Amino acid sequence: MKKTVAVIGAGTMGNGIAHVFAKTGWDVRLIDINEKALEKGLATIRKNLDREVAKEKISAADGEAAFARITGQGSLEAVKGCGLVVEAVVENAELKKKIFAELDQLADADAILASNTSSISISLIASATKRPGQVIGMHFMNPVPMMKLVEVIRGHDTSDETNAAVLACCEELGKTPLVSEDYPGFVANRILMPMINEAVFALFEGVATREAIDGIMKLGMAHPMGPLTLADFIGLDVCLAILEVLHRELGDPKYRPCPLLRKLVAAGHLGRKSGRGFYDYS
Ligand code: NAD
Repeated sequence: MKKTVAVIGAGTMGNGIAHVFAKTGWDVRLIDINEKALEKGLATIRKNLDREVAKEKISAADGEAAFARITGQGSLEAVKGCGLVVEAVVENAELKKKIFAELDQLADADAILASNTSSISISLIASATKRPGQVIGMHFMNPVPMMKLVEVIRGHDTSDETNAAVLACCEELGKTPLVSEDYPGFVANRILMPMINEAVFALFEGVATREAIDGIMKLGMAHPMGPLTLADFIGLDVCLAILEVLHRELGDPKYRPCPLLRKLVAAGHLGRKSGRGFYDYS
């Protein structure tokens, strides 16, 4: 595979994915339609690389070289010449299908098109292209530079060659890939989101305070952080979007998003990224 990757979307996940590829020696084209988001994404990568230099995880020269491998771009045209495209725009099926239809037109014929979607069907996304065998899920975990796992999702028509190439790519990035079939929420979010939703219901019903809910799960289950803190970290809009997919596509009422989660998202309290969610970060 040609070691040039295009990452679509410079947000929370996109800038982390670009960071990891650049550190591994790949040339990276980081694409975002929003100029401010692109600037912010590049600044975040710079800051995170500098932090790794300060902690002596990488040399200053390697940090500089990694940053120099990334170019910011405003148009999907920049996917031309890339061996791999990783899409990380907002969790919206219609938008992802539209982008994959465009990518199919613009990307090299042998390029693999991956999505970092948390819950949207890879088979559905692939159906927007004429190369469904070359479409796959690469579900990185947040924060991407720190987290080892990549959940690799095989769509209905994903080829063995594409799967093998993506598994090898994850290994090269220093990640551990584990494969899931293409069903709603795959494995990670099918198990994580009902736990977060149940924590929100516990708060909603007055079972305990937010601090007690988080503390009980953190200390009692040895989780690194409580579910409400984790939801703020992931983004409450992202959590709600994933729960909607589980609820709609599995058709089981046990996935019904808690009304309190809906209310916070409606109010624009999306967690850390907006300064307020279950906790106040201002
Ligand atoms: P985000 O909102 O932080 O970033 C999305 C970026 O996409 C924004 O910068 C936006 O400007 C850009 N964008 C929107 N439309 C675009 C277009 N047409 N072309 C180019 N760029 C466009 O979102 P995020 O949290 O990084 O999530 C991205 C994807 O990763 C989603 O599918 C999400 O489900 C998935 N994901 C998120 C997490 C998480 O913890 N946040 C974890 C794993 C996977």
